[in-house]
Amino acid sequence: MEKLLHVEMLETEFTKDKQKTKILHGVTFHINKGEVLGLVGESGSGKSLTSLSIMKLFKGTSGEISRGNIQFHNQELTTKSESEMRKIRGKQIAMIFQEPMTSLNPVMKIGEQLLEPIRIHLGFKEKQAKEHAISILKKVGIPRAEEILNEFPHQLSGGMRQRIMIAMAISCNPELLIADEPTTALDVTIQAQILDLLKQLQQKENMSVLLITHDLGVVAEMCDRVVVMYAGRVVEEADVYDLFESPKHPYTKGLIGSVPKIGQKKDKLDSIKGNVPDPSNLPKGCKFAPRCNDAMGICFEEEPPTMTFENDRKCSCWLYKEERGDICV
Ligand code: SF4
Ligand code: MG
Repeated sequence: MEKLLHVEMLETEFTKDKQKTKILHGVTFHINKGEVLGLVGESGSGKSLTSLSIMKLFKGTSGEISRGNIQFHNQELTTKSESEMRKIRGKQIAMIFQEPMTSLNPVMKIGEQLLEPIRIHLGFKEKQAKEHAISILKKVGIPRAEEILNEFPHQLSGGMRQRIMIAMAISCNPELLIADEPTTALDVTIQAQILDLLKQLQQKENMSVLLITHDLGVVAEMCDRVVVMYAGRVVEEADVYDLFESPKHPYTKGLIGSVPKIGQKKDKLDSIKGNVPDPSNLPKGCKFAPRCNDAMGICFEEEPPTMTFENDRKCSCWLYKEERGDICV
């Protein structure tokens, strides 16, 4: 399978009062052409920062990539300048966020916002750009497309705004769409419609999608493969079927165990005890050890290496030391 994006040993850090805090620690994964890769974990696990690092969207923060590579096709993104990244963003890699109101400009009409990237990236003139915008709005299931172009974001419902965001994101035919919790702010019915739309568009255009979510139901529905993150690290990577069928990492097991199941009689759902650790004060050894029911002596001393298994699975946990294939990181 052709790899579209390859993130390798990525480290991103922030500086405050001259003190550097590393948030991403050696994040490694890849996305194949045409696949949906799920990036899961609790909030604070580094999922969003991973996607912002890929796009190099650190504006207004002290964030910077301190190590690692991000290969998109055969281009190295970590060494690209801001103006080079601007040509890639929107055109080759597009992004949609959880809350469209934060990314839509409230004082600009939908038309102006939608037409801008089309003019810039596709070089279309006014009339052609407008026709293209209308066809995209129809593609994402927006009725009265022509009228909507003259409306402001606040005149639309949350679901409609998210459709506009998707329209903006796909308007220049990106090869990779990064969707960060795209449906979290929406009610359940609209959520299902938006996910359905994303899946349809992805299949029709053979687009690759990096889907960031903390919702494992969404993962099961949408993804081909899954990367599980914890404390700024990838702790497990597997095909979606393998992940649900036989999760390896205790953290993944905890995440799956905390999803309510149909017909479940328990009063209380299994959930993972404790909280995600503070990035500036991480425990020694395995970062999950303080919350892990399977923790052994070594877990509190040494960080587990990433081990590879059959079917291209990866997992970083000392439990698998004996059955590991080879250590790859
Ligand atoms: Fe638990 Fe140890 Fe595995 Fe970490 S390495 S997840 S503490 S068993
Ligand atoms: Mg997030």
